[in-house]
Amino acid sequence: MAKKQFQAESKRLLEMMINSIYTQKEIFLRELISNASDAIDKIYYKALTDDQLVFNKEDYFIKITADKTNRTLTITDTGIGMTEEELENNLGVIAKSGSLAFKKENEAKDGHNIIGQFGVGFYSAFMVADELIVTSKALGSDKAYRWISAGADGYTITPAEKDGVGTEIVMKIKENTEDEQYDEYLEPYRLRAIIKKYSDFIRYPIKMDMTSQ
Ligand code: ADP
Ligand code: MG
Repeated sequence: MAKKQFQAESKRLLEMMINSIYTQKEIFLRELISNASDAIDKIYYKALTDDQLVFNKEDYFIKITADKTNRTLTITDTGIGMTEEELENNLGVIAKSGSLAFKKENEAKDGHNIIGQFGVGFYSAFMVADELIVTSKALGSDKAYRWISAGADGYTITPAEKDGVGTEIVMKIKENTEDEQYDEYLEPYRLRAIIKKYSDFIRYPIKMDMTSQ
């Protein structure tokens, strides 16, 4: 399948992330957990007005899996998921928070503050990963799709297999360099500390899966 290009604005933000102007890379996890939580909220609110939909609390959670051997960090949620169009529209273009950060960047010309203030959302994952594989099945759909990107040169969307409704994001964590350490994002104790620091208020359980260590 042909590679699609990011919109110009998205591409710039993406390049900012990849080149990591921001030192506090750990915030990527806050962004992905907050998206997962938003996705579960969407089912929750839908269930309030939709008699066909029952929200059983125990079915809704966020799971973090670190696999050192394969250098992957996986964030799974049982939220509302994304259709093929939503993968395209939500991940292929700059998001709301992203645009805000972007505007501010032009005003302040200081990447450090902006991202701290507004968050950059999904793309912040590229600060620590060189590839993202997002597999999602939307509520009410029996089809799943996979969005893959290795950064600024674009992304692909293809049909995929996935059991339940929700989203799985597999991050291929970057290799350590002389200047930058990425191994820590595969360490459960470090991940736990990041979750405690930024995501303590999240209303859904955040499960840590270490079986693959
Ligand atoms: P924001 O959260 O501010 O909208 P993001 O860049 O974090 O911006 O996310 C962009 C969009 O991608 C979200 O608004 C949402 O529609 C979609 N999205 C991201 N992660 C998920 C997820 N885990 N489940 C469902 N939709 C998601
Ligand atoms: Mg977000």
